[in-house]
Amino acid sequence: MSNTANTLKIHTFTCAWCGLTATKTASDGSLRNHCPSCLHSQHVSDHVEGGPSECDGRMSPIAIAVLRTGDWMLIHRCVRCDELTSNPVCADDNQLILMRMAVRPLAQPPFPLEALGSL
Ligand SMILES: [Zn+2]
Ligand SMILES: [Zn+2]
Repeated sequence: MSNTANTLKIHTFTCAWCGLTATKTASDGSLRNHCPSCLHSQHVSDHVEGGPSECDGRMSPIAIAVLRTGDWMLIHRCVRCDELTSNPVCADDNQLILMRMAVRPLAQPPFPLEALGSL
């Protein structure tokens, strides 16, 4: 019985933001480091030094980046130390939040759109 609980703990994590218990591997077999529901992550590995991070801060999804291959990357920023990370989007990630983040810059252009018409 304790065996089952241990296995469950190794293969799942609890989202620090929405409390969802998620598996560490996505449905397509890729490793997941963020919550599939709210897309928040946790700063547990140091991306500069490659080792585990002492920070443990919450990482908010802030943007989408598209690689040359067409793959979508999710950009996270740590709310505690401001470190930025990028991670591949998983097949079962919340598509509504992904789309909302992808169109946000288009919905809030830093210049008047009318200027484009006179180019
Ligand atoms: Zn979550
Ligand atoms: Zn951090």
